[in-house]
Amino acid sequence: MTVTEKVLVIQKRLCAAYGCPIPYFHELDPLSELISSLLSHRTKNKDSGRAFKQLRGRFPTWEEVRDAPLNQVQLPENFSAQEVYDNHEVLMLHGQRCCFMNNPACTRCVLLDLCPEGQWRLQNRVDAVIQSPG
Ligand code: SF4
Repeated sequence: MTVTEKVLVIQKRLCAAYGCPIPYFHELDPLSELISSLLSHRTKNKDSGRAFKQLRGRFPTWEEVRDAPLNQVQLPENFSAQEVYDNHEVLMLHGQRCCFMNNPACTRCVLLDLCPEGQWRLQNRVDAVIQSPG
């Protein structure tokens, strides 16, 4: 499975788990929504808002963003604004409801078979049980 295929499988599973399409949090034009969503992944609203303003300050038009060198501005290909928004939202929801920072609930995670971290955690738990003296 290629990385792109894996990303699409993750998107599909998380969308099924959390109910895509997810209604927009606010109404912007589609391109502004896309950019705002990209900037706000796993970021506090205050920080993503600042990043959005900095981007618009540096590139006042979307045409300038489009034509900027890729290492300065990266966009996913072939995703609609809704898909980008869903991606952002389901990753946030997954972090809030399952993939907790300190103790992720890997045993009930829909991504376990795709996640080396989750498999490593469960394997270590099994090893710990086997090595337990009691
Ligand atoms: S398997 Fe565990 S670490 Fe991996 S995404 Fe799921 S909850 Fe997070």
